[in-house]
Amino acid sequence: MKKAIYPGSFDPVTFGHIDIIERAANLFGEVTVLVSNNPDKNTSFSYDERLSFIKKVTMKYPNVKTDMLDGLLVDYFRDHNADVIIKGLRAMSDFEFEFQQALVNKDLFPKAETVFLCANVSGTFLSSSMVKQVAMFGGDISSFVPQDIINDIYRRVKRKA
Ligand code: ADP
Repeated sequence: MKKAIYPGSFDPVTFGHIDIIERAANLFGEVTVLVSNNPDKNTSFSYDERLSFIKKVTMKYPNVKTDMLDGLLVDYFRDHNADVIIKGLRAMSDFEFEFQQALVNKDLFPKAETVFLCANVSGTFLSSSMVKQVAMFGGDISSFVPQDIINDIYRRVKRKA
């Protein structure tokens, strides 16, 4: 059984991320969504909030798990016997950064293969920061994030405003 890990900040998770998770879960025996917990990175949602959103929206996939990433991705990869790192690609702008990351990871740990899944057409423009901006101004985010986390997102962006 091939084990995939899908790292990200998921601040918050969007339909774009969920599409990648679902497709990875169809391709690999097990997918672990790794929610980064980097205190230096300024996220809008706390680690616990981001993790609870991911847990809610992935509950229906029996082979999808969640975990925390608080160190080097390749260390997690090695320590948990993963087979592939999953990354989603929206546009050429994602490619340059992700390509560099993939090469660095391979250099640090040669078994660390990265598999890129292209965003679906409706996800190419979708990002967590765009969701937050729309929510902050009270816009409709129902086509960007699942229904069961919408109210939590509105509550949070209002608290910050
Ligand atoms: P962002 O890049 O929006 O800050 P993350 O760090 O949470 O988001 O991204 C985690 C992974 O998901 C990255 O590989 C990123 O390219 C991918 N991703 C983000 N948004 C989408 C989307 N709409 N469609 C496909 N992949 C995406």
